[in-house]
Amino acid sequence: MHKLRIIFLAIAVSFTARSAENPGYLYKAGVATAVITPDRPMPMAGYGARKKPAEGKDQDLYGKVLAIEDQKGNRVVFITLDLIGVISELRTAVENGLAEDHKLPAHALVMNASHTHCGPAYGRPELKDYFDSIVKKLRAATTKAIKGMQPAKLSYAHAKCAFAMNRRTPTDKGFRNHPNPNGPVDHTVPVLRVDDTEGKLFAVMFGYSCHNTSVGYLRWLGDYAGFAQQYFEEDHPGVTAMFMMNCGGDQNPYPRGTAEWAAKHGRSLATAVEAALEVTQRYFYHQNRLKGGIQTALKHVNLEFTTEKRDPFPYPVQVIQFGNDLTFVTLGNEVTVDYSLRLKRELGGEGKPVIWVAGYSNVYSGYIPSKRVLLEGGYEARSRPWKPDLEERIIKTAHELFHNFN
Ligand SMILES: [Zn+2]
Repeated sequence: MHKLRIIFLAIAVSFTARSAENPGYLYKAGVATAVITPDRPMPMAGYGARKKPAEGKDQDLYGKVLAIEDQKGNRVVFITLDLIGVISELRTAVENGLAEDHKLPAHALVMNASHTHCGPAYGRPELKDYFDSIVKKLRAATTKAIKGMQPAKLSYAHAKCAFAMNRRTPTDKGFRNHPNPNGPVDHTVPVLRVDDTEGKLFAVMFGYSCHNTSVGYLRWLGDYAGFAQQYFEEDHPGVTAMFMMNCGGDQNPYPRGTAEWAAKHGRSLATAVEAALEVTQRYFYHQNRLKGGIQTALKHVNLEFTTEKRDPFPYPVQVIQFGNDLTFVTLGNEVTVDYSLRLKRELGGEGKPVIWVAGYSNVYSGYIPSKRVLLEGGYEARSRPWKPDLEERIIKTAHELFHNFN
């Protein structure tokens, strides 16, 4: 009798789970792409030693938008950019524009830059007209993405790609910027897959933790991230591919020095995206289909400096959650890899959402070393005179936002 009841209960539970899991789609999604390549020679961003303006382009630079809405109408907008970073003026202008155009709350907007070192120094006062044109194009692209939203299925998978190497090598004169095959890395390539209701792919957003510094010449180029997006789109006509820079503050692509290496690394990364999609191809079986509602939160935590009289830096920490399935933690500035490894370890795990940590989001103002990197010293540690408690402040804020949703 007792046994029978348990069996009956198990059948009832499995039936409920199956039917709750099986609506044709749970989200709406739309994408749009804007070309933001400068139309004239401009100073370039990334390498201080490169004084001359760009002489032309080897690749267009893009701003790409992915807008997603859940069944209750909660939205999130991801904007990825082939630029050095998201300077606060750009974030503010786009955030205000999207509040005006779509009543989009600031916490539902993610802006991430690939950190290509072959893009324009677009924050300079003499480039105001170009800056304004980027804002205008991103607003128009967001409107297009939102208006074009269609029923969609979302799923997550990841693969690995290994050209990123830690670039902090201990020597008897301190840590040097030099490839260190023994240093920490995060070779994960997280992929968000967006299909229409027929199961046809129409967008992918993928991440990687590595500087876009394969080359530093006088041409516009998206570097490896630009090639990865280009190759994937060429191999999948009609699909929009977006790159999200993760925690590559202390990671470089190796080998490096020429555009050929950027192309080769781009091919490697595009192949890793394909491998991740293999994981998701049998829609019925795979485990990482997103099902739940969208929740978004953004909080600025004050990071203090050791220098007296310098105001604390309001540092953006953002959490974007899809049900119990996938959580993005986005962090500002050039975040070193320890943050990705730690947050995935502390927030993720069995029965928890997959954790995707993206640095280079929403603001761009120097490096964010972990406490370890800060105390070790070297290039990434010297960027700003941070107090060593910055890591705990950032991690604590991420936990706080995450646990509000979980
Ligand atoms: Zn950098």
